[in-house]
Amino acid sequence: MNYNSTRDKSKVVTASQAIAQGISEEGGLFVPQSLPKYTLDDIKALAQTDYRGRAKKIFGDFLGDFTEEEISQSVEAAYTPEKFGSDDPAPISYIESGSTKMSILELWHGPTCAFKDMALQILPHLLTKSVKKTYSGKEAVILVATSGDTGKAALEGFKDVDGTRIMVFYPVNGVSPMQKRQMATQKGDNVSVVAIEGNFDDAQTGVKKIFTNSEIKAKLEKNNMLFSSANSINWGRLLPQIVYYFSAYCELLNAKKINAGDKINVVVPTGNFGNILASFYAMNMGLPVNKFICASNANNVLTDFIKTGTYDRKRQFYTTISPSMDILVSSNLERLLYHLTDGNAEKVAQWMNELSANGSYTVDSYVKSKLDELFYGGCCDDDNTRATIREMYKNESYLCDTHTAVAVNVYKQYVEETGDNTPAVIASTASPYKFAKSVLEAVSDEKLPEDEYAMVDELSAITKTSVPLPLASLKNAEVRFKEECKVDEMPETVLNSLSIN
Ligand SMILES: *Cc1c(COP(=O)(O)O)cnc(C)c1O
Repeated sequence: MNYNSTRDKSKVVTASQAIAQGISEEGGLFVPQSLPKYTLDDIKALAQTDYRGRAKKIFGDFLGDFTEEEISQSVEAAYTPEKFGSDDPAPISYIESGSTKMSILELWHGPTCAFKDMALQILPHLLTKSVKKTYSGKEAVILVATSGDTGKAALEGFKDVDGTRIMVFYPVNGVSPMQKRQMATQKGDNVSVVAIEGNFDDAQTGVKKIFTNSEIKAKLEKNNMLFSSANSINWGRLLPQIVYYFSAYCELLNAKKINAGDKINVVVPTGNFGNILASFYAMNMGLPVNKFICASNANNVLTDFIKTGTYDRKRQFYTTISPSMDILVSSNLERLLYHLTDGNAEKVAQWMNELSANGSYTVDSYVKSKLDELFYGGCCDDDNTRATIREMYKNESYLCDTHTAVAVNVYKQYVEETGDNTPAVIASTASPYKFAKSVLEAVSDEKLPEDEYAMVDELSAITKTSVPLPLASLKNAEVRFKEECKVDEMPETVLNSLSIN
């Protein structure tokens, strides 16, 4: 199986090249040229095995130039009970409220307490093997722009991995205190963390510019290094996310919540459009899906896009209590457009050029009609997010984080509007303890304590849930990284940190 660029069909690369490079030279994203197709019998067979077994099958079908041994090694090393708390890295909580059935797919039991671990625990294994295959001997320099969770998950995945260095940029005022603490205290000899004066989109654009800067690239080459990405523009980030949608379906089958062939709705709190896109790939591989429900916070550029067919990033940017979704340019939408145009790279390149030149583009009626058929977009502001956390806690005894609450809220809007009670899998993307202040505010009527850890402890005491160990252990950790830089200083910061300026 090979991969194309979304902006230039003549670019054809192997799986390992796609993963090692992260992004195509002309700025396009790598997409599989075709997809494996699973029948219901194939899915039933997947249901007979465990998460790791499902992962091995799916990885095997996508990573054409990897051996079975390499895939097996990677999967076994990534999804261990030590890292994910149990043999099932993605457990489901079932909630029935009236005739509405929600299966909350908890994707945050990994080492950094957000769903990014599902991909970033395995990406370093895939990436180092990919670099060996195609660029033997080179050191991979991983550049990451983060809205909070990717940064920590990538740092944790790549720390002290031979042949790699990792640099993370985060918006100085755009992450939660816990997210900041997680990154600033990161251990490892090959890591660095820098705050930028700007928002996530600035960080992401800055990183993309460095990737495609030929002068910087030449400097790296001279020093036997190459850039790669741990953001969801990298195919190696998306592929692991396909697994948990199949796995969730298998678990629903095994728990007799659905029958083989029954359709499900998929609800995803969305930022960069990676997570929801993985479920779209799963459907195209044979997973029975009825609707994709794309949930946004006040930064509702995707809600408008799905409703109107016009993507317009020229709007106010809001800093919300669900910071990992504070994004106006959702990179992975480009991949969706590629598939919805049946692989029309010219058209995708044109829309992406319009987006960067004018800040907006409008899709044609063919793509719009497909969007209407498959997607529902909705949004939820901070007040409603807090109200949903409270409601879920008081009525269902379920404590969820701010991002998951956005998804639950939009899902309820969807059911109200359409009456569609198809069983829903709701992606729960972070531990409530990562956003302790907002969650505590929502469930408690008392005055909040000042200190972050006092809030964490109070949340635990009130809700009788335990603080995840990786967060509890940060309380007294040493702060290692305090550097800040301006967006236009990012290239220099990277070169300095690599000592190749
Ligand atoms: C990254 C993230 C999201 C958004 O996921 P995308 O794949 O970027 O759409 C949602 N919730 C949390 C907690 C996240 O960390």
